[in-house]
Amino acid sequence: MIRLGAQVSQARGYETTIREAGDAGLRSLQLFSRNPVGGQSRTLPKAGQLRPVLREAGIAVLYIHAPYFVNPAATDPAMLDRARQALKQEMRRAKRLSADYVVLHAGHWQQAGRRAESVQAFVGTVVAMLEAPGRVLVENSAGQGKELGGDLDELEEIFRGIGRTRRVGLMLDTAHAMAQGYALTTADDADAFLEAVDRKVGLDRVSGIHLNDSLYPVGSHRDRHAHLLTGALGLPALKRLVAWADQTDCPLVLETPGRDVAQRQDDILVIRELHQGD
Ligand SMILES: [Zn+2]
Repeated sequence: MIRLGAQVSQARGYETTIREAGDAGLRSLQLFSRNPVGGQSRTLPKAGQLRPVLREAGIAVLYIHAPYFVNPAATDPAMLDRARQALKQEMRRAKRLSADYVVLHAGHWQQAGRRAESVQAFVGTVVAMLEAPGRVLVENSAGQGKELGGDLDELEEIFRGIGRTRRVGLMLDTAHAMAQGYALTTADDADAFLEAVDRKVGLDRVSGIHLNDSLYPVGSHRDRHAHLLTGALGLPALKRLVAWADQTDCPLVLETPGRDVAQRQDDILVIRELHQGD
């Protein structure tokens, strides 16, 4: 079964958002637990309160996207400490929301020539997050500017640093992969990409795909999501990825432009047509 989902705004409240997603036929969901760029934290529901709501709505997997306002790879000690405290708190917020995973970007390197130190700082941040309950997914980046974690070799290093644990997995973002330089045009491209992920990190560690098109071409290192099949993504590659997700029960989460399910109708239709009978 395709566990199609989307990132949506929870501005109208968690319960309403979850019910609406379920009514729209979604089976996975990604939310921010707070304003991602900072500011006031939203009051959270009671622990366990959302569990029956998720079950009734048919949402099998809930992802909480970590906020962007901290740098988990900071080499400045005070900044790094702030990031770790905030992300540990995010783990606790995710648990309270009955979420399955916190999705985290690898952050930015701060000083030229100290990239390796930044990678190690990020590894330490993930390890620190595991002091709180729950699971973490590291997301591949577009390699835009100073972003870490776009290259699969760097992700391999990050995962090696974290060590083998079932509590840390990979969130694959297709727009970021293309921006980083991994073509997803043909079926062979998709196969080659999945093989590379398997070799470097392990496909068994992939616990979600952010299914997005990239507005800019392969290797642009520019992170701009587009609606499916309106950018660099090719239909044969998309078919392969959807087939793989179907076989492995891997959720597909749309982060295409828009804030709600209605604005992703075209993307949902593309997937449904590829996957008839679902
Ligand atoms: Zn993403």
